[in-house]
Amino acid sequence: MSPRTLVAGNWKMNGLKASSAMLEELARAHPSPVCDVLVCPPSTLVAAFAGGAFPIGGQDCHWKASGAHTGDISAEMLADAGASAVIIGHSERRADHGETDAMVSNKTEAAWRAGLVAVVCVGETEAERDAGETLARIGSQLAASIPDGATAANLVVAYEPVWAIGTGRTPSLEEIAEVHDFMRKTLSDRFGADIAGGVRLLYGGSVKPSNAAEIFAIKNVNGALVGGASLKAEDFGGIISAAG
Ligand code: PEP
Repeated sequence: MSPRTLVAGNWKMNGLKASSAMLEELARAHPSPVCDVLVCPPSTLVAAFAGGAFPIGGQDCHWKASGAHTGDISAEMLADAGASAVIIGHSERRADHGETDAMVSNKTEAAWRAGLVAVVCVGETEAERDAGETLARIGSQLAASIPDGATAANLVVAYEPVWAIGTGRTPSLEEIAEVHDFMRKTLSDRFGADIAGGVRLLYGGSVKPSNAAEIFAIKNVNGALVGGASLKAEDFGGIISAAG
């Protein structure tokens, strides 16, 4: 049986306290969503939004529980603020903050230590795709970014081709299927079919209401990580509806 579809919204550096109105509008339109929904606002809003209609996640965490790390927040702090999950290793963190696979692995361990679901992001650059290196890149990221101890309950993996994020461009359905089949097999070889079969594999990169249904119909796609379209109730709601 396929795991329940998850539609996760990554608000990035967008959103103020008043953005709670968007979540209220979304909840009114989708009182019983046909899928799991996760909203990942900036960390300043986690405590304000937690306990509302939708589970709340962070967008990053440090690998230490506390200490002299100015500007960082720990997984324990996110959990304390009411988060149930955290995005780790987003390509913008990897590019803007030099996050390596080893750091992503440490952060994933920290998320699990704090009882959070880790949404670990992987994805190739356009140059890597053009060079025919997509599967090799995804394989090495999966191997080095995910520590031992993964379960179907504590891990979600998001495949986000870097060149598809915020660009309006998406891979073909066949290209998405190829990567998702590869990720399932890779996780299966390492963690066993039972665990790997339950890990949600999300696609991310320019998902919108108009392309969500065909993406969700791909075998081994168990949902989406949504950036820009998660900021508007109508668009995010349209993607949630497409999961039905
Ligand atoms: C993202 O950054 O996780 C993302 C998928 O962005 P977008 O949907 O805007 O391409």
